[in-house]
Amino acid sequence: MSLLILELNMKAVSDRINKLSESQTIAMAKRSRELQAEGKDIISLSLGEPDFNTPDIIKEAAKQAIDDNYSTYTPVSGYLDLREAIAKKFKRDNNLTYTPNQIVASTGAKQSIANVVLSLVNPGDEVILPAPYWVSYYEIIKMADGVPVVIDTNIESDFKITAQQLKGAMTANTKLMIFSSPCNPTGSIYSKSELESLAGIIASKEDFYVIADEIYVHINFVGGHESLAQFDSIYDKVITINGVSKGFAMTGWRLGYIGAAEWIAKACDKIQGQFTSGTCSITQRAVIAAMEIDPKTSEVTSMKDAFKERRDYMINRLNVIEGVVINQPEGAFYVFPNIKALFGKSWEGGKIQTATDLSMYLLEKAEVALVTGEAFGSPECIRISYASSLEVLKEAMDRVEKALKELN
Ligand code: PMP
Ligand code: GLU
Repeated sequence: MSLLILELNMKAVSDRINKLSESQTIAMAKRSRELQAEGKDIISLSLGEPDFNTPDIIKEAAKQAIDDNYSTYTPVSGYLDLREAIAKKFKRDNNLTYTPNQIVASTGAKQSIANVVLSLVNPGDEVILPAPYWVSYYEIIKMADGVPVVIDTNIESDFKITAQQLKGAMTANTKLMIFSSPCNPTGSIYSKSELESLAGIIASKEDFYVIADEIYVHINFVGGHESLAQFDSIYDKVITINGVSKGFAMTGWRLGYIGAAEWIAKACDKIQGQFTSGTCSITQRAVIAAMEIDPKTSEVTSMKDAFKERRDYMINRLNVIEGVVINQPEGAFYVFPNIKALFGKSWEGGKIQTATDLSMYLLEKAEVALVTGEAFGSPECIRISYASSLEVLKEAMDRVEKALKELN
């Protein structure tokens, strides 16, 4: 009876939902929790989520906000003093000038990205996505009836696109590009000169915009971050995305934000006013405290240093496993090894033919959850999140190494 109802409801669901794929990062995390609930000793390296606590100064600001009765609806784009604090942060950390009217705070950077895509993309518009890309970009583009145009990259180019590749992918229908630096899932970071050459191409096309997702800005192991919006010729065409989930260990608090041309910020405010209104009032007050933290102070650098130590550990472990090829991630907290040499190998449960087969094999045999590269548009790779303690990573890598040796 209940199955029949479920089936009828599936039919009633809109085409939009039927076309949409479930987020693979979230699906894998969900599967890990289910297996853990069944008593299995699963180590989950699937979700990009810092394992640290939110800094005390931010928590104190939230407690104070509750006591001060910040309990009503907020302006849709966020409190003015929050947007002023974000503007100061953009100037201090990235030398980007945005006024509060150019800033919209949302319920996570995920919503910020969805707001911008829905604000700019008409059905049939092409959106350029350098692959590997973060899972949700592709699906958000589909939701807006846009057409994703994927530019493939590989480990040899450190998974970065060149100006020539960008130019080659552009057509009369190109409206938007979305990329991240530091990159989820590869950890690659674009240098100033690489961004400058992309900026030359971006400037050459009218009505072409770029979402520069900088949410991993504070998890950078090579030094200064370079923002795409720094180039005057394209400042108005770039939407800078950021948020507090990663750098301040605040994934559950839900606050992301944009800096953009005022008309784009207005469009995002309009959508958000119909979908969710302003994000949580308590979170907004707490984020004012987060924005005041200089990223050079220990609240932020201690987490970055721990991630760097883990990155080095993961590289050392992966480098000695036969069939695994890896780049040197410079930021974020993922490794994205190429595992194509393992395709064709077998175990008692079958043959490994794809990255998804390999991730399922590792889930079953090693009880380690990670995410297939197919979810990121790179079917020869797997993504491992190292946002876990060294102790957990050691146990996970022991298991992975053993399971991979057992393939024949
Ligand atoms: N962009 C990238 C590249 C991400 O990895 C994430 C991770 N969640 C997000 C955006 C969204 O972040 P949030 O919604 O938690 O702010
Ligand atoms: N951004 C993280 C990841 O890529 C969190 C999960 C998600 O929002 O997709 O794993």
